[in-house]
Amino acid sequence: MIQCHIVQDLLPSCIDGLLSAETEHDIQQHLQECEKCRALHAKLSASIDHAHLHAEKEDINFLKKVRRKTTAKMITGFAVLLLIFALLTYYFAIGSPVRKTDLIYTTDVTEDLWRIHLELTNGKALLVKTETIYGEKDSNGIKPIIGKLITPHELLPSPLLGEEDTSFMYGSTIDSFKNGDYKVILRLEDGDIVFTSDNLGQ
Ligand SMILES: [Zn+2]
Repeated sequence: MIQCHIVQDLLPSCIDGLLSAETEHDIQQHLQECEKCRALHAKLSASIDHAHLHAEKEDINFLKKVRRKTTAKMITGFAVLLLIFALLTYYFAIGSPVRKTDLIYTTDVTEDLWRIHLELTNGKALLVKTETIYGEKDSNGIKPIIGKLITPHELLPSPLLGEEDTSFMYGSTIDSFKNGDYKVILRLEDGDIVFTSDNLGQ
């Protein structure tokens, strides 16, 4: 039988499974017969388990940190995607106001119809918004229509929609200009161009 102090010296290695099968066998045999060494073995086993558990917790904390960083990266990535989408929408769908230098407008009168023709000259696609202009309420509480607001926007030609318009036409009868203060306003980024019954021939 091995002496107790030798067994006790070897116990940590035994618990870690580092001993030869032969030595381990001898130690197990000793433990079965010696209560003192068995108690020490139990105590050492418990504290080593605890150390392992602690190490695992640190691993888990590390993983949590990694996961938190990954989440932050994903949120940043998502925000960047949103920004790109917003910019694409802006350039392809909403557009930006057109400057006078990028637009040629011509007007003509055919019989009782006045027409304005817009042509964008910078190679971008033209998107024109038209709104009715209403005047002050009259005595019957009705807001009269007093004109039309034409706001051209320029867009990057969309790869999704293919060929797009660079020109736009709007027409209004001469009569509508002559009745009251009817006007057509062409709203450009650097100012309005206003057409009234006085300058239709331009
Ligand atoms: Zn012993």
